[in-house]
Amino acid sequence: MTPIQTSNTSNPTHPPMAGIYIHIPFCRSKCAYCDFFSLPATAALKKDADCFTKYLEAVKRELVLRIDELTAPATTIYIGGGTPTAIPLCQLAPFLSWIYREVVSRNQKFDGEAVTEFTVEANPEDISSDLIDSLRQSGVNRISIGIQSFDTAQLDAIMRRHDSDASFRALSILRESGINYSADLIYGLPQQSLESWSSQIKSLLDFEPPHFSAYLLSYEPGTRLYARKEQGKVTEADEHTACRMYGILTEAARERGYNHYEISNFSIPGKEARHNSSYWNLTPYLGLGCSAHSFDGDTRRINPANLGSYINSLLASDPTPPYTEEAETLINKVNDYIITSLRTSAGLSLLRIREKWGSDIASRVLSNITRIYKEGGITSKGDSSFRIPEQLWLTSDAILREVILDAD
Ligand code: SF4
Repeated sequence: MTPIQTSNTSNPTHPPMAGIYIHIPFCRSKCAYCDFFSLPATAALKKDADCFTKYLEAVKRELVLRIDELTAPATTIYIGGGTPTAIPLCQLAPFLSWIYREVVSRNQKFDGEAVTEFTVEANPEDISSDLIDSLRQSGVNRISIGIQSFDTAQLDAIMRRHDSDASFRALSILRESGINYSADLIYGLPQQSLESWSSQIKSLLDFEPPHFSAYLLSYEPGTRLYARKEQGKVTEADEHTACRMYGILTEAARERGYNHYEISNFSIPGKEARHNSSYWNLTPYLGLGCSAHSFDGDTRRINPANLGSYINSLLASDPTPPYTEEAETLINKVNDYIITSLRTSAGLSLLRIREKWGSDIASRVLSNITRIYKEGGITSKGDSSFRIPEQLWLTSDAILREVILDAD
């Protein structure tokens, strides 16, 4: 094991940059596993026919009020939800254009740094050539699509709106269009066999997506899927099955030349998701919209998960950002970094920890790592960075518990 270096050299791979996340909290219907803050669009419109217009205006105001919380140029924008494309294109496209222009213009302060990645989430049933053209004209250069499965019965089991045909059709259109995109899959679905999972991955990789994410289905309290599990109507995949599915996934990705750079994320080289990487490489981000979180490196700001109070605060004659603040303790910040970085291929950088939080903290982390290192749960290339082997990422909780720091 390489001892931690004592020089004060800064890490040159840490350029100052930031990201902006915008939450669109409307969906056409609620999927059974979803615990994100999202509202059925029809019900929201029934309550207030202008709710889309008001919401988009509120987000624009929040951006103006808060963008200077970022002390670096915003090089990535991510519009997620919810389902951004649940908002009609005639409203969504001008909104996206405005956001793009505003961010580009604000980046002039920083030598005109470019927005290198502007992603919009979409569902398969919304994908069309017209949608892609319109998004492109608004500055969008990447789409993230929730495929989840190519099997209609599996999609029905989690109450997705689309079917197998829509999954295939959307990917064909995306491929044809040439736009950069990422596709999500879920494994451990009810009744999903190992063979079926293997065939889902094959179906996706046959499209050669530039990037894809694969998540193990989780049963979150408060969701319909969780209730069904409690009633004994569905069974959660056991750890052994989940691990075998993870193994099938990582092997298939490797065979097709994908870089597995984070527990759930795979890309062809050079197409790693820049925005999502903010969450595990300490890049500050500004989160706008209902329920969005922001983090500037010290403080977490959390917007209300309430459409009415969010809109009212921002459309008032004297608008105020409606967030609440949670000052992160030093130990929490370090532990967040440990937990996220150790499930990436880049791993945990002790130099980075020392640079950001001091030698004392770095020594404490190193001391914890040393114990696991001896048992083989963590490896190092001798460059003061440490990794959990890829095959252990899915079951790394026990290792992470050993590495995180105890509260002072
Ligand atoms: S479309 Fe996405 S955000 Fe909306 S309910 Fe389904 S999983 Fe949740």
